[in-house]
Amino acid sequence: MHKGNKIYEGKAKILYETDNKDLLIQYFKDDATAFNAAKKGTIHDKGVVNNKISTKMFALLESKGIPTHFVENLSEREMLVKRVAIVPLEVITRNKAAGSFCRNYGVQEGRVLAVPVQEFSYKCDALNDPLINDSHILALELATKEELETIKNMSTKINGIIRDFFAKLNLELIDFKLEFGRYKGKIILADEISPDTCRIWEVGTGRKLDKDRFRHDLGNVEEAYQEVLSRVTK
Ligand code: UDP
Repeated sequence: MHKGNKIYEGKAKILYETDNKDLLIQYFKDDATAFNAAKKGTIHDKGVVNNKISTKMFALLESKGIPTHFVENLSEREMLVKRVAIVPLEVITRNKAAGSFCRNYGVQEGRVLAVPVQEFSYKCDALNDPLINDSHILALELATKEELETIKNMSTKINGIIRDFFAKLNLELIDFKLEFGRYKGKIILADEISPDTCRIWEVGTGRKLDKDRFRHDLGNVEEAYQEVLSRVTK
């Protein structure tokens, strides 16, 4: 697959055109940011690990009937993906309280949520990704009513699939962020699924195996990412 022009560079990934107008190469970097890029650093080999973990997660979801942008793995840091128009929403699902949920609602980290929480942020760095609700999304025409229903249903299904998969690996899915895109008139899952975008705790010990180790300088960041990779690909 010919690697063409760079069309987008984000905080953790780069997208390149290919000779097929419907396909892009998604390249995973080692760069890490937190708190809307107020904190910057690198995590050694994160790009390699996140490419492998995302590949595994997309393949798992596809096998359970979830349409994703994943086409195939190309190299250690690259996957071939469908070229989507990203819906400018960060779709977050939470099983236990952590991060901004604790700050916003004054609850203790790790509190079991009586039902999984679905929340949306408007994907806009300049505005600091503000939380928005259904009516904001429809009023601002970020997605149609039908698209929003699809996104909610897919997110609920994905939560169940990943939670069950992780549970067998003695990992707990605390929360995660998804991004969706439009491809040939359909909503499909895009972006990545990795310890950058999920909170993952070890069952029993509660050991954090995700980007919180970088966010809060907990140490052993690389080891945590490698630990998730080794369990997920076992
Ligand atoms: N998340 C993400 N990208 C973002 C914001 C959040 O991948 O720009 C993920 C984050 O890793 C966590 C979940 O979404 O798994 C919920 O994040 P939260 O809102 O608690 O964010 P915080 O401000 O605490 O990072």
